[in-house]
Amino acid sequence: MARQQHIVMFPFMAQGHIIPFLALAKLIAQRHPALTVTLLNTPLNIQSLQSSNVLHPSNVHLKSLPYRGTDFGLPPGAENTDSLPLPSIIRIFDSSESLQPHLVRFLSELTRENNGQPPLLIIADVFLGWTVDVARSLGVPHASFTTCGAFGTAAYMSLWLHLPHVAAPPGSREFNVPGFPEAFKLQTDQMSSYMRAADGSDPWSRFFRRQITRSLRSDAIVCNTVEEVETEGLRLLRRNAGGGLRVFPVGPLLPLESNSSHDRSGRKSGVEAGCIVKWLDSHESGSVVFVSFGSQNTVSASQMMSLAAGLEASGHPFVWVVRPPLGFDLGSEFRPEWLPQGFEERMRASGKGILIRRWAPQLEILSHGSTGAFLSHCGWNSVLESLSRGVCIIGWPLASEQFYNSKMVEEELRVGTELARGTVEEVRSEAVEAAVRLVIEGDEGREMKERASKYRRMIREAMREEGEVKGSSIRSVDELIEMAMSSSRSTSV
Ligand code: UDP
Repeated sequence: MARQQHIVMFPFMAQGHIIPFLALAKLIAQRHPALTVTLLNTPLNIQSLQSSNVLHPSNVHLKSLPYRGTDFGLPPGAENTDSLPLPSIIRIFDSSESLQPHLVRFLSELTRENNGQPPLLIIADVFLGWTVDVARSLGVPHASFTTCGAFGTAAYMSLWLHLPHVAAPPGSREFNVPGFPEAFKLQTDQMSSYMRAADGSDPWSRFFRRQITRSLRSDAIVCNTVEEVETEGLRLLRRNAGGGLRVFPVGPLLPLESNSSHDRSGRKSGVEAGCIVKWLDSHESGSVVFVSFGSQNTVSASQMMSLAAGLEASGHPFVWVVRPPLGFDLGSEFRPEWLPQGFEERMRASGKGILIRRWAPQLEILSHGSTGAFLSHCGWNSVLESLSRGVCIIGWPLASEQFYNSKMVEEELRVGTELARGTVEEVRSEAVEAAVRLVIEGDEGREMKERASKYRRMIREAMREEGEVKGSSIRSVDELIEMAMSSSRSTSV
């Protein structure tokens, strides 16, 4: 009986992980139609992918594994990090290891049904480092997939594994990061609150240190980035990950479907994409600021006031995805008192600004020629989407590796400027105005724009294939599959 070659993919239970995993599954399946790619997750996540109407190639399968988050103190129905408050997020992290016996059972059955041939490769999230042990026990090659950029991943790994901030001299705000060049410094406010509080024995440290250490025992790291864009980040990741680990940059893995009309939980966008495009059409090329803090972050009430005042003072048109400020349920109705008095009416009447409730068609907005800057929290998907459209970034990182993405955007790629960090510091409206002017007006902004256009071209090239000529990310995907195939050939000899 003919044996089928399988690739098994396993993202961590968060939308920001599932989306690039699915994009990679589709890419592999299209390039290697003889393979079957199975994406695993918990029942509700798989159900939501099945009902999302995204068309997959017929060789991409979705499969759910049993999961009981309530055993870990999670509310019923919570199977991914969406809308979960911070204390519950660590529970979902901890619960992920309970999937281990189910993964073993699935892989054993798959192997039996396939006449004893195990899968060719397991590609699992760096947060699911325990999957390396499962793969080893079955003799299957394993690749750890980081959905962040290379620089962000290298910084994040080093911080968790070395906890240098704990060793930093008291009172010192600036410290070196092990494995990074001497000249590279981070400041204590470039870490999430849970990382600042980490002492190695707390739940966050225990989780990250255990999973990262195991992930680094994999055969490869797959990274949602582009070789030519993140040369320094990839150099650091390759060096710090150790010699035996190959790193495959396969990005940009952008959302498969247009994310214009619904958010990740299916909530309808606050506005139709067509209306925004029409509004953008009426503005000058490169003049509009797009403001969004991603899918799960927001700023404080006083920061929101300053942001509004600064945008207004800049005189530049803007599209702003507004969410309730910190301390309020992100899904609740947006209240006018969270903005300066009469702000929305003034902006509407003058045609200067559009406020979108909750969810905007981000890719469409970034793709429009009128968009000149993206004031962003620097989530990795947002950075990639912005660069892939040649749009400069005004950084306002709020959590996790967003701080390192923002630093890279400003200092290494030089396609933006950092305006603020986190939700605690006071942000003056004058600083908002100055950052907007810097990026949109004048010589410095023009130079940033030229560099951003260069990165846009590199990103497109990376995914291009013409005859024999393949872009770097396409080559990487093929090399990853070839690595797995040659390992399978050598074990079956
Ligand atoms: N996004 C969107 N509309 C919004 C907010 C977010 O389409 O109003 C999409 C955005 O295009 C990106 C993702 O949601 O693909 C956000 O991912 P990112 O890594 O930037 O940040 P996160 O939400 O994970 O913090």
